[in-house]
Amino acid sequence: MKEMIYETFSPEETKELGRKIGAAAIQGSVYTLVGDLGVGKTVFTQGIAEGLEIEEPICSPTFTIVQVYEEGRMPFYHFDVYRIGDIEEMDEIGYEDYFYGEGVCMIEWANLIEEILPEHRWDITIEKDLEKGFDYRKIIIKEV
Ligand code: ADP
Ligand code: MG
Repeated sequence: MKEMIYETFSPEETKELGRKIGAAAIQGSVYTLVGDLGVGKTVFTQGIAEGLEIEEPICSPTFTIVQVYEEGRMPFYHFDVYRIGDIEEMDEIGYEDYFYGEGVCMIEWANLIEEILPEHRWDITIEKDLEKGFDYRKIIIKEV
């Protein structure tokens, strides 16, 4: 198990870290993303998308559970499971085709569907620390 800790001091730096991860991602990679509202999850995900050579903007897939981007160097499946009522909704959308598919998955609020998460994945947490400044973020990436 590997854990890496990064510190960023601007949205651009967070996006750049995401871009590097997206550029290095291989088919079947699954990333979970946890962090409070406004911490930078969308900024980070936009970077991942850039690293996958997706040009269209990433929006939060709040009402759809999963948003699929096909234009990059491999498919990108962006999940936001915040509004999920029952785990069966994941079966209904055929989540296994995404989790064990040809593309890269990013799952926001993954703690709500813990029982079906792939065993091998990267858990990413973004935190603020106001003592280190308003734009400071600590980004922890853990291989599970
Ligand atoms: P979330 O998706 O987690 O709710 P967003 O990515 O939409 O959050 O918003 C993050 C906000 O924080 C943006 O307004 C961004 O400009 C700001 N911000 C300030 N510093 C940073 C940083 N180091 N990394 C990411 N975002 C930052
Ligand atoms: Mg967001």
